[in-house]
Amino acid sequence: MQGREEIMGVKPNIAETNLGENSTDGNGTEDRGSGAIAPIVLHPSKQAQRWTIEESEELYRIKGWGEPYFSINAAGHVTVSPRGDRGGSLDLLELVEALGQRNLDLPLLIRFSDILEDRIERLNACFSKAIARYKYPGVYRGVFPVKCNQQRHLIEDLVRFGQPHQFGLEAGSKPELMIALATLKTEGALVICNGYKDREYIETAILAQRLGQRAIVVIEQLEEVEMVIAASKSLGIQPVLGVRAKLMSKGIGRWGGSSGDRAKFGLTIPEIIHAVDQLAGADMLSCLQLLHFHIGSQISAISKVKDAIRESSQIYVELAKLGANMKYLDVGGGLGVDYDGSKTNFHASKNYNMQNYANDIVAEVKEACEEGQVPMPTLISESGRAIASHQSVLIFNVLGTSDVSIHPPEPSTEKEHLILRNLSDTYHSIKAENYQEAYHDAIQFKEEAISLFNFGYLSLRERARAEQLYWACCGKIQAIVRDVDYVPDDLEELEKIMASIYYINLSVFQSAPDSWAIDQLFPIMPIHRLDEKPTERGTLADLTCDSDGKIDQFIDLLDVKHVLELHRLKPDEPYYLGMFLGGAYQEIMGNLHNLFGDTNTVHIKLTPKGYEIEHVVKGDTMKEVLSYVQYDAEDMIESIRKQTEQALKDGNITLQESQRLLQNYERCLGRYTYLTT
Ligand SMILES: *Cc1c(COP(=O)(O)O)cnc(C)c1O
Repeated sequence: MQGREEIMGVKPNIAETNLGENSTDGNGTEDRGSGAIAPIVLHPSKQAQRWTIEESEELYRIKGWGEPYFSINAAGHVTVSPRGDRGGSLDLLELVEALGQRNLDLPLLIRFSDILEDRIERLNACFSKAIARYKYPGVYRGVFPVKCNQQRHLIEDLVRFGQPHQFGLEAGSKPELMIALATLKTEGALVICNGYKDREYIETAILAQRLGQRAIVVIEQLEEVEMVIAASKSLGIQPVLGVRAKLMSKGIGRWGGSSGDRAKFGLTIPEIIHAVDQLAGADMLSCLQLLHFHIGSQISAISKVKDAIRESSQIYVELAKLGANMKYLDVGGGLGVDYDGSKTNFHASKNYNMQNYANDIVAEVKEACEEGQVPMPTLISESGRAIASHQSVLIFNVLGTSDVSIHPPEPSTEKEHLILRNLSDTYHSIKAENYQEAYHDAIQFKEEAISLFNFGYLSLRERARAEQLYWACCGKIQAIVRDVDYVPDDLEELEKIMASIYYINLSVFQSAPDSWAIDQLFPIMPIHRLDEKPTERGTLADLTCDSDGKIDQFIDLLDVKHVLELHRLKPDEPYYLGMFLGGAYQEIMGNLHNLFGDTNTVHIKLTPKGYEIEHVVKGDTMKEVLSYVQYDAEDMIESIRKQTEQALKDGNITLQESQRLLQNYERCLGRYTYLTT
């Protein structure tokens, strides 16, 4: 658990940490020492009886990351309560099956607009509470950073749900500015204009004031000051300006580089002073009304937030003293999401909650402004991840598994090669007292067997037996290891090498790009069979022909785990997994590796009687993804048609075969890029 701080008196409960590995397993112990039966063989019926949904809750940590939206019902299915504590829930398995009947094939992204609404309500409620608690004489006006999820239906929902709170939008680029200006119609809501700007961007933002839009142009680069002054003079409009500061206070982890002297964006303090002088020279210092900073996304430690607020509040006070007409303090993004539910400062977690965050911002700003005797600003946050992550769930099915095959080995014979007898003896000697030594022996004997084979001393059949004996040893040792409290470091690899591979109908590159690119952790779990013991340990392999197209890091209370507890597949029964909290950033960053396109998406809204489907956004067809790489479906069909004509002429294909081929080819082009079952 390197580097994790404890949260506010909540201490990671060590007793919980071996869950799943440690839960007593009668079948494992029966075999101990007898050596006769392969220990990996589990008794499905017995296992099933002894597993409760509470055990699944603990194993997958659903309360840690999922409350109040996700839980497990008595049937062992994941349920969604899109309105949080305000009641109403849906059985996720039933929902997926019902959607399947409407030809919404997997993989399927399900969006719950009620969750989005609940997140906005929560964030605003936290700030209201903090403002009341500290008697802060100002207001909170949040904005949603469009880059987190630009999908039209989502942004439109967001604007609608944000209306009571005058919730605005933040644009980080020109196209995002286009979205913000076209979509935001809430009176009093802000449009924060960030990112690199050219004259056109700046002019558009300034002119939008004439439409009643409260667009604030945030200066991120020194060159923008000149541009803003020139645009304002030529338009004859006084803009509202902000300045983004490079703070010394740094975030931590992956996005820690978003602040500090060498950050990509923002002005250093000498540059801010320069900008102030330039604006004053143009008689525009009164336009400067906002101070902005952003120390990075997913700030996992509240101490970093506090440092940044303290530093920025002081800058704010000083800017006011320099004569700027300061009205807004924009604390950027960074409000974290507890992906692993551990409530620590681990990168996949955060050691504070939304209320702590709001309290600290309000209290720190108030103190600094009181001290400096300047009016208190309207507070803005650009919380993206915290608003958008929970609202979507990605459901995908398992296509098959590849397991290490373990069979109880045949008894050894005198005539057998010495190396095989050694392996066999090792297998029979394995007990709780010597498993570590036996593990190293088994590895060594197996390696020797491979060498002997390479030099021609072992036959192929003998090598097969050596490998079987080796895996049998591993299986037996694994059963012991799962039962002990302390696992020696050198045996930690064992679970990994013994893990099954679950082939999933998904592209990690399209649907969970951050898992591939930056090892981000998302909670992943089966959405059914949760009243049944997950007897297998697996990693997930996706559809792409890329060895990086896999998921082998999963949330855990301590650090990460490399295998996920899963159920054995049942013949003719689908097995569904859900990936949760992926509603921010994943969709737009997903790419078309191997030409797997966008997944089907459906928007679900809770109704008094159940639910309603608000929108269906069909995933890409093959034709569509092919057009992104400039293929024309008609041309492609024509090419196949010509080839079949030639083959017919040459007598290499029958008319029937050629028709079948053409039909399949054409039909395929109009289909989903994923596998259908
Ligand atoms: C990305 C970004 C955000 C959003 O950050 P979250 O951590 O998702 O809340 C906010 N502001 C700026 C300037 C950003 O670049």
